[in-house]
Parts: sequence; C-alpha cells; structure tokens
Amino acid sequence: MNNEQQHALLRKMAQLMKSGLETQTEPFPETEKEFAAILDELRKLDANDVEAKMVISGFVDHPYGPDRQRCMECMYYLVHREWCDLPELAVPVDADWWCRLWRI
Ligand code: SF4
Repeated sequence: MNNEQQHALLRKMAQLMKSGLETQTEPFPETEKEFAAILDELRKLDANDVEAKMVISGFVDHPYGPDRQRCMECMYYLVHREWCDLPELAVPVDADWWCRLWRI
C-alpha cells in the first residue's frame, strides 16, 4: 500500500466512524485467552474487509475510557507510519483512535 492509498483508507475509516459505525468496544479482553479469541475472529475475515475488522476490534475515533487510552500509546502503533502493526489488523490508524486490542 502506497502513501496515497494509505491516506485514502484512513479517511474512509474516519468517515465510517463519523457516520456512526457501531463497533464491539466491549468486552475488553482482560486475559490472554480473550485477546487470542478476538485475534481468531479477525483471522477468519477477508484481509481487505476493513469495516469488519473495525467492528470486531471495537474501533472508536477518540481516546477511550477513564484512562483515555489511544493508539498513540499502544505497543502496536508505528508512530512514523501512522500504522497499526498488529498483523491481524494491519491498517492505518490515527494517534487519537483506539480499539479493544490496545496494549502497552
Ligand atoms: S491495536 Fe488497536 S489501539 Fe493498538 S494501535 Fe492497533 S488499532 Fe490502535
């Protein structure tokens, strides 16, 4: 994916959330087993089905929860690429977004 394609996809994802896409923000995976179960669900998807990935992983376009967690502080966030490096996601993300696979 080149830079232009990446930005187009980021804009599409932002628009989906702005339009009210309902995603599964809860339950947050508290254990390894729960985390792995979400990854399993993601692996079953077509890798290009970004909307389904967003729904299952619980994307929101703002910091989340009392700790205001966001991609910026997640271990999977690649700052210089504005990219989520979790292989099951592998999508562009904004620093202020969040999903329930957030980890530090
Ligand atoms: S796993 Fe979720 S919170 Fe972490 S960078 Fe990827 S999209 Fe953002």
